[in-house]
Amino acid sequence: MDFNHTEEQKKWIQAVRDFMVTFDVENALKNESEQLPWEIRKASGTQGLIGLDIPKEYGGQGLNAATMGLLYEECGKFGVNTREVVGAGHGGMIAKFGTHEQKLRYLPDLINGDLLVGVGLTEPNIGSDLASTETFARKEGSHYVLSGGKELVSRVREAGIFVVFAQTRRGAGMKGLTAFLVDMNDPNVEKYDLEPMGMKGWSYGGFRLHDVKVPVSNRLGKEGEGFKIFNQHFGYWRVLMGIICIGAARSAMEQAVQYAKERKAFGAPIGRLQSVMHKIAESATTLETASLLSLKALDVLDKGRTNTVEGSMAKWYATTTAYKAIDDMLQIHGARGYLKETGLEQKLRDVRGLMIADGSTDVLKSVIGRELLGKDIYDSMLGRSGELPPQQAMVP
Ligand SMILES: Cc1cc2nc3c(=O)[nH]c(=O)nc-3n(C[C@H](O)[C@H](O)[C@H](O)COP(=O)(O)OP(=O)(O)OC[C@H]3O[C@@H](n4cnc5c(N)ncnc54)[C@H](O)[C@@H]3O)c2cc1C
Repeated sequence: MDFNHTEEQKKWIQAVRDFMVTFDVENALKNESEQLPWEIRKASGTQGLIGLDIPKEYGGQGLNAATMGLLYEECGKFGVNTREVVGAGHGGMIAKFGTHEQKLRYLPDLINGDLLVGVGLTEPNIGSDLASTETFARKEGSHYVLSGGKELVSRVREAGIFVVFAQTRRGAGMKGLTAFLVDMNDPNVEKYDLEPMGMKGWSYGGFRLHDVKVPVSNRLGKEGEGFKIFNQHFGYWRVLMGIICIGAARSAMEQAVQYAKERKAFGAPIGRLQSVMHKIAESATTLETASLLSLKALDVLDKGRTNTVEGSMAKWYATTTAYKAIDDMLQIHGARGYLKETGLEQKLRDVRGLMIADGSTDVLKSVIGRELLGKDIYDSMLGRSGELPPQQAMVP
């Protein structure tokens, strides 16, 4: 076990940091308009930072999951909104599960920064309970016809394509779930906006699918493989989302440490007060723990295993730990921490969203509980009989 970064990891961390500083990404993504500054994404593509986790044969750098974890933690220091400034994002599903033809069609644009890929799981009537997905894909000759809709999804305006999860077999639950690459410029895709409390800088909303024709060549994986794709992708992605929150909390901590040295109360710096010192010490410890847990969950993937338990532990622990730490750092700033200009309120709002998205804290605890207590107990909690073996059954 080696806790030191390799020379290559150090090089990439420095490259990401330089990019964030040179292009002032933190401020660029602070805008309240919920519109992505495309020039940042393009610049990242030009610098070769988008294809980091895409295999080399498709133009990427082929970095492993643990290295990506280190980079996402670095990104988080400049804001949770940087989550799709480096790396393939949800486009990683195409790199992993796409046909050779799909990879050639989409990955070059993804890597150069022209294309962003969204993911559509959540619907007006379903969220965590993916097996009850209502969006339906009916096969008609050389294409499918998709009807239904997705809601509460990120990047609805920016994404050129969405990986949409739909049922291809009514009543088949997880076994009937299939993934499709849907062109978001199709006139039968009707988009709408919703206003989230955080994660500004990116659009958020939903889209209705009015009998959208999707060629069979745009199906990702086989019919019924949607759940496998979801599970593998989110086993990776949700850990990155946890670790990006740790980065955000670490930068809040740096800010608070500086403040605690400078701000005086009762004749001396507030850092000498045990209430302040202990908040900093506790946050430093819990954030380090969360970071190590996250890197372990990614290392498990790099070793070719599934990370159901480790990934669930890492994501809920990282997001909740980061939230608590940022809140404590805000408290150290007193009333100044409550000002927008200090930036801590934004970090709180952003991290709060990631305690729900990509597997809510509660769901992830249920998943850990299922692995420890057994599937029968889990199924009885959900009031349903099992349809998948334990290592596969997993809700978002
Ligand atoms: C900022 C943000 C970005 C998002 N981006 C996307 C996106 O890009 N694409 C997308 O498809 N979705 C996205 N979502 C939606 C997100 O994936 C869902 O919110 C999430 O899956 C939960 O679904 P839900 O909100 O419908 O809650 P529900 O599933 O209705 O759950 C309601 C409550 O019940 C709890 N609960 C449900 N099931 C269980 C269980 N088994 N055990 C314990 N507790 C449970 C939940 O934790 C929650 O507290 C985003 C959400 C947010 C906040």
